[in-house]
Amino acid sequence: MLVDLHVHLRGTLVREAVLALADRNAISIPSSVLSQARYGWYDFASFLKAYDLITSVVRSAADLEIVTSSYLQRCAAVGGGYVEFMLSPPDLARTGVPFPEQLKALEAAADRAAEEWGIHSRLIATAVRHLGPKAAIAAAHMATSIRSDMIVGFGLTGDEHRYEVGEFAEAFRIARAEGLRTTAHAGEHRPAETVLEAIETLGLDRVGHGVRAIESPHVTRQLAEAQMPLEVCLRSNLALGLYASIAEHPIGRLADADCTIVLGTDDPGFFDTDLAEEYGLALKAHPSLGIGRVSGAAIAAAFCGEPTKAVLGDMLARRQLGDA
Ligand SMILES: [Zn+2]
Repeated sequence: MLVDLHVHLRGTLVREAVLALADRNAISIPSSVLSQARYGWYDFASFLKAYDLITSVVRSAADLEIVTSSYLQRCAAVGGGYVEFMLSPPDLARTGVPFPEQLKALEAAADRAAEEWGIHSRLIATAVRHLGPKAAIAAAHMATSIRSDMIVGFGLTGDEHRYEVGEFAEAFRIARAEGLRTTAHAGEHRPAETVLEAIETLGLDRVGHGVRAIESPHVTRQLAEAQMPLEVCLRSNLALGLYASIAEHPIGRLADADCTIVLGTDDPGFFDTDLAEEYGLALKAHPSLGIGRVSGAAIAAAFCGEPTKAVLGDMLARRQLGDA
């Protein structure tokens, strides 16, 4: 049983869904973008541009439900059993979908997916770093304005180069005070030390990416000692040019250093990946990174409650025995 702990909900959009939603919402997406592999992006700046364009097709709560269901169905089909989606509540609130409606759509998709495809899911509400600390506080207030079993975490996404991480401490304090668990992108585009800084400043339970920790033996050791889960997204790192090949990716060295590795697809619609591909690559990179080690760590690191973790533990044990 495979677990996806790092996936941006709107980043799951595949071509057919983009076409269907663009048609339904009368949004024109240039066919030159849709006909190209990976929506035509070729570097980080063009990736962000393509991302804004493609994700603009998601307008309503019904759209959100379709996108969520569609990913969960595809993920279950390749062996997925649990997904934590990231979504920034203010993004869709701006297009007229209040957060309670976003949550209802996610809950409806999650319930259906659990029943029909045996895959469970939760939400991590996120703030977008390059929109600044004030917007992050607004996102934290929105995320904590409603109680639901669906929402389990608060995260920070976006451009690591913008703002100091300490400027987001207040947003994370608000989220943690309401019982949300936390993660933030760090150590993807910036050096090792920024990973420790983010953990300490924001009070993180997990780190998004964190792979550049390998550049500092001190940071790597601290992460291993703290058993801090790193949400590693291999295809994303390769596609964005962080590493030229899987052989050069540090996941194996991080595993050798006893770091806690969990996996994610990041933006599977943009990186032509899925969860089975990520697990396959991890195993290729290091023989110890099989389903048992990675999914066991992911269940322990998941932000859902203990009853769901027990269900996932049973699913993992059964599927490891080849019984499901
Ligand atoms: Zn990400």
